[in-house]
Amino acid sequence: MRECQAGLDEPLEKRLEIHIKSLQCFQKGTKGYRHIRAYDVMTNSKQWHAKILERYPCKDERELHLRETHWIVNTPNVVNRHVPLHTPEGKKSARKQTKKKYDDAHREEKRARQNQKFGCHCGGRFTMANRRQHWRSGRHNSFVATLKKMSRVEV
Ligand SMILES: [Zn+2]
Repeated sequence: MRECQAGLDEPLEKRLEIHIKSLQCFQKGTKGYRHIRAYDVMTNSKQWHAKILERYPCKDERELHLRETHWIVNTPNVVNRHVPLHTPEGKKSARKQTKKKYDDAHREEKRARQNQKFGCHCGGRFTMANRRQHWRSGRHNSFVATLKKMSRVEV
């Protein structure tokens, strides 16, 4: 598998030096993990190398980030997690994917929470999933009405 990292706004050698020093600090335990995907590639693959994909003259930072985004979006197995310029559609899609991943990972917890049963003061029982249906039921509403009547009598 080939993995790529896009985006260089500094010389490649300096960028690599930062990654290698950070990895060494991370391995010693003196630094937390910042570039974890790059660490994974550097430690798990013996034959990694870095190269400049393109020399792209640009007039400002936005143009640089646009090009970086192009490479990140269009390169398979890219290491970069941060996409500098998301389009609104890209952001929406990324959010959707994140939500789907979360939902997939927590599906059983959610199902268990939805099926958890509760007892109501009216004597009825309901699951978390149908609690609103219970609150609209005749049994619950007549109980609430009785409570209201009793509270008027007491006052
Ligand atoms: Zn009730």
